[in-house]
Amino acid sequence: MKMDTIAIEPFKIVTEGLKEVGGGTYRLCYQCGRCETVCPWNRVRSFFVRRMNNQAQIGLVPFESEDLWLCTTCESCMERCPRGVLTISNMVAMRRLLLPDGVVPASIPSLRTATTNIASVGNPWGLRQEERAQWAFGLEIKEFDENTEFLYFPGCYLSYDPRLKKVAQATAKILKKAGVDFGILGPKESCCGESIRKTGNEILFKRIARENIKVFIDSGVKKIITSSPHCYHTFKNEYPEFKMNFDVIHISELLFELIKEGRLRVNREFEKRVAYHDPCYLGRHNGIYEEPRGILKKAGIQLIELPEMRDESLCCGMGGGRIWMETKKEERFSNIRIKQVMEIEAEVLATFCPYCITAFEDSRLVMGLRDKLEVKDVTEILEEVI
Ligand code: SF4
Ligand code: SF4
Repeated sequence: MKMDTIAIEPFKIVTEGLKEVGGGTYRLCYQCGRCETVCPWNRVRSFFVRRMNNQAQIGLVPFESEDLWLCTTCESCMERCPRGVLTISNMVAMRRLLLPDGVVPASIPSLRTATTNIASVGNPWGLRQEERAQWAFGLEIKEFDENTEFLYFPGCYLSYDPRLKKVAQATAKILKKAGVDFGILGPKESCCGESIRKTGNEILFKRIARENIKVFIDSGVKKIITSSPHCYHTFKNEYPEFKMNFDVIHISELLFELIKEGRLRVNREFEKRVAYHDPCYLGRHNGIYEEPRGILKKAGIQLIELPEMRDESLCCGMGGGRIWMETKKEERFSNIRIKQVMEIEAEVLATFCPYCITAFEDSRLVMGLRDKLEVKDVTEILEEVI
């Protein structure tokens, strides 16, 4: 791979610049290479995190290289780094340095489109804001107001994507069955901004976050249920930077509680063998491993574990803004994951993330497994058995 590196500014400006935008820990790297042994990119191509750290230490940024845009922010490397190098922050910082000057490789034009659409109409596809609540048509879901206990925030994929609308619908049906008092914002809902922040676009992220927080406050929101671990992560861990704290709950946490309290009763069997995939932003980033497995087990599901699971889960390849960038067919981590699923002879791959589902659905079709393997959100499975 072409790896032209030039100093975009004199040494001090680059190193100070990286530090100012949140990426100073590359300095701690002592080149042991442990990060590279776990980075999923090294399963499909060469990707040298330590070399990038080394270059940053001498004031170089891989200016035109696509490598800067590869990191999926999966956090695998940070779990193993003996020096506490915050690789995700460093990668995002390098992107932040380059993005204001429009330095984005020509190979990722789809990122520009998604960014422009989110900035203009609040979703990555440029679809009409009024269509945002069409997934809820006929389900009699109320609009959130200050007397409603929970705001359900489906996010962009579950609102607009035909495959993932089914997950929002299953979620709403379950919540209604359990008697949960919830509402939606409908056309007032907008992209959470998580993926855009990871592409380095801090200005847009801050604007989105402030606008969302204003809508939440004006509507009287206190408790937010999310389906996407990415919305969950940013509302819970990043929005507090704006001095606002909402009670943020991932749907897996709430469903597990509802089952334990007896508010959801299982009365049908699901006979297929299910493998559970831990999404990076639910597992490694937020430590939610037990609740999804607890739901599946209490629902009487025959759960079989994948070889790389929990904190060692294999990234689907879509985090860090990669969802808006093209990945070559032969370089998709999701293909590797699907092979693992087939090796343990599961019939359903279950997860709890719209990005993972999108990647796995695509791999399943490309690999000719349409009739052999289903990909489902855990919510969809639960809805079938209650
Ligand atoms: S594991 Fe940490 S210290 Fe070792 S090369 Fe990677 S970033 Fe550097
Ligand atoms: S966060 Fe994940 S994709 Fe990024 S460098 Fe680390 S291991 Fe690789």
